[in-house]
Amino acid sequence: MAVDCIFCKIAAGSVPAEILYQDEDLVSFRDINPQAPVHLLIVPRKHITNLNDLSEDDSYLVGKMAKVAQQLALSEGISELGYRLVVNCGDWGGQLVKHLHMHIIGGRKLDGRLG
Ligand code: 5GP
Ligand code: ZN
Repeated sequence: MAVDCIFCKIAAGSVPAEILYQDEDLVSFRDINPQAPVHLLIVPRKHITNLNDLSEDDSYLVGKMAKVAQQLALSEGISELGYRLVVNCGDWGGQLVKHLHMHIIGGRKLDGRLG
């Protein structure tokens, strides 16, 4: 756990969040400032700053995050109409929280712009 990392604290249960899924590797919860009717985050329990710091040994986590996203999209009722998965990396990628995370955004028609 990284000191002063909000997502480490949520994963450890020391900061509250609406947890939707958790296992030994990952935790998912609702974004505190949703950009759409459904806006979830999936984070690894392990503190990894961003994709630049993903090691070979930890790379399975990203596939697992996508699989959990698929399941959460189904349970949130957004699978059929569609949704967006976003992983911001670094300052120019718009990453504010320096702990690897995947956004699941849906529940409305998203525009085509990516940046
Ligand atoms: P980023 O811009 O780093 O990709 O996105 C970080 C996301 O984390 C933002 O959408 C922001 O609203 C969300 N976030 C930041 N702090 C908290 C928090 O304490 N709790 C929850 N649930 N989400 C947070
Ligand atoms: Zn962290």
